Amino acid sequence: MMWLNWKTISWAAMTAERLFSGGGHIFPLEVKRAAVRRMNLRLDMRGRAVRLTLPRFVPLGPALKWVDEKRDWVEMQLAKLPSPSPIVPGMVVPLGDEALTLDWAESYPRRVVRIGDQLRVGGPLEALPGRLTRWLKRQALERLEAESRAMAAEHGLPLTSVGVGDPTSRWGSCSSSGAIRYSWRLILAPDFVLKATVAHELAHLKHMDHSPRFYAVLRELLGNDPKPARDWLKAHGQKLHGFGRG
Ligand SMILES: [Zn+2]
Repeated sequence: MMWLNWKTISWAAMTAERLFSGGGHIFPLEVKRAAVRRMNLRLDMRGRAVRLTLPRFVPLGPALKWVDEKRDWVEMQLAKLPSPSPIVPGMVVPLGDEALTLDWAESYPRRVVRIGDQLRVGGPLEALPGRLTRWLKRQALERLEAESRAMAAEHGLPLTSVGVGDPTSRWGSCSSSGAIRYSWRLILAPDFVLKATVAHELAHLKHMDHSPRFYAVLRELLGNDPKPARDWLKAHGQKLHGFGRG
């Protein structure tokens, strides 16, 4: 039997051994034969599939057994995927160390206002996700800019500008011209994580690498150990990426 492309095994032909679950999703196993020397298993996060590439003459049976041996590892990786958490009325919005409840009614004023531990917002329901996300981005920029400017001033660092974006693979970046950009999603993380990320990017204003000298500056800026923040992002970062999606 020959498979020419990833799509040849259809959903209808899927058996339990060819399905993986993780992060609230089901991922089909897709098999392709190619001129490769050995079997290769890859997680395609965007296509949401587990992909097996087989050398042309390896039979499928033993290959599927081999895949099954890797099942635990694969499902562990899949569990780390962002679990989508769409913006809906009544949801809890993490904001730094606080947890705010989203209080929506069409008749409320459209502008997001914070009242105690509630975020109140009105207007059409379909505009709610965009409205809240824009508000969160503004909060993120305000907070990250204030923290960065204060820390840079205190330590005499040549910070030029602060911006926010939504990169998928990094929480911050620093250019040699002194411009720093952060993920706006840091506003959804506890304060110590946001602060440690700010200190990390500012430390790059002195050293553009991750050398021991860099870490010495980072510790000095932060005043304590940056590792707990890094661990937190490793464990929960995907949750931040799932916010507002799905
Ligand atoms: Zn870095």
